[in-house]
Amino acid sequence: MGHVIPDDVVVVGAGLAGLRTVEQLRGHGYRGGITLVSKEEELPYDRPPLSKQVLTGSWEPERAALCDRAALAELGVEVRTGEATGLGVWSVMLDDGTVLRTGATVVATGAVPRVLPGQPDGVSTLRTLGDARNLKEQLAQIDTLLIVGGGFIAAEVATAAVAAGVDVTVVEALEHPCSRALGPQAGELVGRLFRDAGVTLRTGSAIARFVDANTVELDSGEKLAADHILVSVGSVPDVDWLAGSELPIGDGVLAGGTGRVPPLPGVWALGDATSWWDQPRRRYARNEHWTSASDQAAMVAADILGLDTPTLAPPYVWSDQFGLKIQVLGRPDIADEVVPLAGEGLDGGPVKGTVVGYRKDGHLVGVVSFGAPARFVGFRDEVVAGTKAITTVAQEIED
Ligand SMILES: Cc1cc2nc3c(=O)[nH]c(=O)nc-3n(C[C@H](O)[C@H](O)[C@H](O)COP(=O)(O)OP(=O)(O)OC[C@H]3O[C@@H](n4cnc5c(N)ncnc54)[C@H](O)[C@@H]3O)c2cc1C
Repeated sequence: MGHVIPDDVVVVGAGLAGLRTVEQLRGHGYRGGITLVSKEEELPYDRPPLSKQVLTGSWEPERAALCDRAALAELGVEVRTGEATGLGVWSVMLDDGTVLRTGATVVATGAVPRVLPGQPDGVSTLRTLGDARNLKEQLAQIDTLLIVGGGFIAAEVATAAVAAGVDVTVVEALEHPCSRALGPQAGELVGRLFRDAGVTLRTGSAIARFVDANTVELDSGEKLAADHILVSVGSVPDVDWLAGSELPIGDGVLAGGTGRVPPLPGVWALGDATSWWDQPRRRYARNEHWTSASDQAAMVAADILGLDTPTLAPPYVWSDQFGLKIQVLGRPDIADEVVPLAGEGLDGGPVKGTVVGYRKDGHLVGVVSFGAPARFVGFRDEVVAGTKAITTVAQEIED
């Protein structure tokens, strides 16, 4: 039987992944009905500016909008404000009791901040536009900020806080900040950026408990207090609403390489809510990157419509910290060797201008650049080729 194009599509989640899927469907000329289910009051907006321009005040929050009502009307989308509460065969249930019948369901419900045990109410996290507004207000009022967690978002908040004249302490359980994404060698460079900016960086320090909304106790028994605390320890996929559906859940919905989620027919999933099968890693992986959500939307829309699916580019993420743009391409996590490609940072020289390479079996599979965008771009083709090489070799061994 040939491919059946669905009469209507329900997209659950109106973030970047959901909106881009809608745009891609219409871009391919799809004329069926599209319903976009949105739990948030706001129209779709972008999250990267929340920890950057919105927090520093260089953008009004409204500028983070991804579209306006006119654009949604132009796309011919019915927006339903409400929460999806369940998913069945060809159906999506909403919290007001409505059951939407659908020929294709797209799960794009994103993620929510990970919360620590006993985390008091007055402690912040940063995920939504409302969170960014609140945190910005806090920064204008406080003298000291304690950030629990030393990842990308923590570094960006620290950047904005330092610029606002706030005294910042960052507590990170690992030996270096951002080392989950970058590994210890490049993580050490990020640590230098923190310290050079005047941030007090406490690495290798785990939180034992919250004493109150302004005080934490470390494993060592030492207590740290601040006018305000932000917890920034990663995110968890927002997929509780799928409990009871037959969808496979691991670190998010487990989807195939085009976003399809068997065993239910007509279900796709993408973005931060999902781990897609990643052939070079030979496992499911959740990327949590802006570009991945956009690239996956192109893949999902093409697959729904039975068109040729595009080739996914290597994962890409950026972060703006302490005046530098850090760019990451590929899969540093699978490397067995870390090498300097440009600059002196790994040898103790300036961080700016440093490009770090990640090799597996001698092939370049990842690159991280510190304020060196032109050099970074020059390694793109080599990462694509290196990734292809290790994937082919692994495939041959498996066959
Ligand atoms: C502060 C911050 C800064 C970032 N900076 C960068 C960066 O510099 N570079 C980069 O590459 N990436 C960055 N990211 C990551 C990037 O923003 C995400 O990868 C991207 O937003 C994922 O899009 P998404 O649509 O999958 O999820 P989301 O943007 O989370 O959208 C999901 C939507 O679904 C809604 N939803 C959830 N459950 C339901 C339900 N049951 N029913 C209806 N709706 C529901 C949610 O409320 C939300 O609106 C950042 C993220 C944050 C939070």
